[in-house]
Amino acid sequence: MTSYANILKPLHLGFTTIKNRVVMGSMHSGLEDRFFNYPKLAAYFGERAKGGVGLIIMGGISPNRQGWLLPAGGTMNSLADIPHHRLVTHAVHKHGAKILMQILHSGRYGYHPFSVSSSPIQAPINPFKPRQMSDSQILATIEDYARCASLAKKAGYDGVEIMGSEGYLINQFLSNHVNKRTDRWGGDIENRMRFPVEIVKAIRAKVGEKFIICFRLSMLDLVHDGNTMQEVIIIAKALEKAGITLLNTGIGWHEARIPTIVTSVPRAAFVDYTAEVKQHVSVPVIASNRINMPDVAEEIVASGQADMVQMARPFLADPYWVNKTATNRVDEINTCIACNQACLDHAFKNERVSCLVNPQACFETELVYIKTKKPKRVAVVGGGVAGMSAATVAASRGHAVTLFEANNDVGGQFNLAKVVPGKEEFHETIRYFKVQLKQTGVDVRLNTKVNREQLEREGFDEVVIATGVVPRTLKIQGSDAPQVLSYAEVLKGAKVGYKVAVIGAGGIGFDVSEFLLKPPHQPQPQPLAEWQREWGVDPNPNYTSKGGTQRPEVEMPVRQIYLLQRKTTPLGIGLGKTSGWVHRAQLKKHGVRMLRGVQYKAVTDEGLWVEHNGHDQLLRLDTIVVCAGQESVKDLVPRENETTLAKYHVIGGAKLAGELDAKRAIREGAELAAKL
Ligand code: NAP
Ligand code: SF4
Repeated sequence: MTSYANILKPLHLGFTTIKNRVVMGSMHSGLEDRFFNYPKLAAYFGERAKGGVGLIIMGGISPNRQGWLLPAGGTMNSLADIPHHRLVTHAVHKHGAKILMQILHSGRYGYHPFSVSSSPIQAPINPFKPRQMSDSQILATIEDYARCASLAKKAGYDGVEIMGSEGYLINQFLSNHVNKRTDRWGGDIENRMRFPVEIVKAIRAKVGEKFIICFRLSMLDLVHDGNTMQEVIIIAKALEKAGITLLNTGIGWHEARIPTIVTSVPRAAFVDYTAEVKQHVSVPVIASNRINMPDVAEEIVASGQADMVQMARPFLADPYWVNKTATNRVDEINTCIACNQACLDHAFKNERVSCLVNPQACFETELVYIKTKKPKRVAVVGGGVAGMSAATVAASRGHAVTLFEANNDVGGQFNLAKVVPGKEEFHETIRYFKVQLKQTGVDVRLNTKVNREQLEREGFDEVVIATGVVPRTLKIQGSDAPQVLSYAEVLKGAKVGYKVAVIGAGGIGFDVSEFLLKPPHQPQPQPLAEWQREWGVDPNPNYTSKGGTQRPEVEMPVRQIYLLQRKTTPLGIGLGKTSGWVHRAQLKKHGVRMLRGVQYKAVTDEGLWVEHNGHDQLLRLDTIVVCAGQESVKDLVPRENETTLAKYHVIGGAKLAGELDAKRAIREGAELAAKL
C-alpha cells in the first residue's frame, strides 16, 4: 500500500494551519464574473472542500477596471462586492479547507479597450493595444491591490494570491519582454520588480500579519527576452522580504509557443525549476503544472522539491481527489487527461467551464445524481465512454444496469486515442470507468452483440443505445485497394509505408499524422529530456538563457506525410483553442505537407490522384490513411415511426457522428442517466 503521508500532512504557517499540502489552483470558471452565479460557484468550491483539499485559490478577480480580463469581468473594489463572496468562503470553511482569492490584473491580456501595461506593446494574442501606465497610475494600481486584498479579508478569505505569472500585468513589469521603461519601474531587475514588491508591502500593511499572501511567480517565462533563473531568485527573495507567506509557481506566458499544460507535456515537467527557487527562500513553495496523480504529487513533496503541490484541472475532474488518496482509493480517481476541451477551451470562448471526464464540474446544482426510488432494469448497449458514463451514473443511482459490449474490452474510441503519442492519459479514463463499472455493480457483458429481440426478451425497462461510430470510408475509384487504410486500422497497428497521405484534417487526422511521424514502440510517455529538446526548453534548472528557452532539436520524422483536406480554410483551424496550436506546430516542425482545397480523384498503384489549385496531380504514395470522420452505428436506433420504443434512448456517436467528441458523449450519458 503506497503511503501519501507527505502530501497529507498539515502545513503550519504560525498564525494558521492548512490541513494538507494539496492546493486547488485558481482557474477561471466563468462563474466568478457575475454576482448571480455565486451560489453555483459556492457549490462548486464547497464540493472540492468537502473532497478534502487543503487550500483553494479562487479567481482571478481584478483590483480595478483596467485589470479586467473581459469587459465587466469579476472585480473587487468596493464593499458592495463582498456579500456574494461570503457564500463561497462559507461553503469552503464549512469543510475545514482554507481559501485565497486570486487578484489578477490582466494588463495587456485584457480583452477590452481600457487595458494598460508597463509599455504600450500589444500582445500577439490580443487585438487591443495597451496604454503605458504613468507613475501615478502605477501607484494608484498598487493601492487598488491593497484595497482589493483588504476587501477579500472582509469577505472571509484566508488570504490572497497575487497573480505574478502567465504573462499578466505583473509579469509584464518583471520581464524585459514587455517592460521597456527607463524610469524607476523599468531597466534592471531591481527596478522591474519594484511594482510587485510594492504591491506585497502595501497589502501586508493593510491586512496585517495574520493573513496569507501567496505570490504566483513566473519561474520560467518561455518567451524571448524573459528572465533568467538568477533574476527569478532575486525576485523571490525580495518578495519574501516584502512579506509573502507562500510562493507559488507559474510556468510560461500565455503567448509562449511552448506548451506547458497540454496532455503531451510530461507529468511534473517543470518541478526542477521550483526546486531551484526553493533553495533560496524560506517561505513554503508550491509546485504546479501537469501534476495530476497522487504518486507524482507525493514524490515532489517527499523529495523536498516543494512544500505543496497545486492542481487546478484535476479538481474539476475529481472533487474527491484528496479523500480518495487519503483512503487509498487512488484507482477511483477520475484523472484529468489535460485535454483542455471542456475547461480552458470554454474559458477562452467565454463559456462556463466544465470537464470532459466530469460533466458535473461547475454544474453541481444542475446535474445532480439522486438515488432513485423506483429502481429499473436498464440496458446500455455499447461500452465506449458514452455508454460507460450512462451505465455508471444509472447504477450509482440504484438502477440494475447491464452493459453490452460487442468487443472484448470496454473503452471504444478511447482505446484508439490512448496510443497516440502524448495521449497516454486516456488510459486513465478507461481505468476510472472500469473501476466505476465494478463498484456500481454494472453487469458487463463483453463479446456480446445484442439485437432488438434479445433486448425485448430480457424485458429491460430502459434501453440506452451507445453503439458509437465506424470510420467513414473513402468512396472514390480504387479506394478499396489494400494500401487504403482507416485510422482505426492504423492505430491498431496495421503496416504503413514511408510515403503517406492522411485524408481529413480533423482532430483524428492530426493525431494520426503525429502517430506516424514517430517510430513505432516509442517509450510512452515521452521522456522529459526528449520533450525539452523537441520544444527548446532549457533543461538546466539554474538556466542562464533568457526566458529558459533554447533552439529546439527536431528528430527526423520516420515518414513523409501529406495531410489533406477539401476545405480551403487553414488546416487545424477547428482544433481546440488552447491545444490546436501545439498540434499544428508539431506537424510543421516535422515537415508534414499540409494541402487544403484538395479534391480526391482516384487511388492507383502509384498513389493518389488529386485536383489541387486547378490542376490534376499525382501524389506518389505507399499508404493512404482515411481520417474522414465517422458514421453512426444505427442498427438498434429506433426509426421515427417506432413510437412503441419510447424506452430506447440514443446517445453519443450513435445519435450524431458529425460532431462526435468525447465531451458530448460523456455528458449525454450522464445527463440521460440522471433522469432515468
Ligand atoms: P472531424 O473533425 O469531423 O474531421 C474529419 C475531416 O474529414 C473533416 O474535417 C472533413 O474535412 C473530412 N471529410 C469529411 N467527410 C469526408 C469525405 N467524405 N471524404 C473526404 N474527407 C472528408 O472528425 P475526426 O477528425 O474524425 O474527429 C472526430 C471527433 O473527435 C471530433 O469531434 C474531434 O473534435 C474529436 N477529436 C478531437 C481531438 C483533439 O485533439 N481535440 C483529437 C481527435 C479527435 P474536409 O471536408 O475539408 O475534407
Ligand atoms: Fe482535465 Fe480535460 Fe477535464 Fe479540463 S476538460 S479538467 S483538461 S479532463
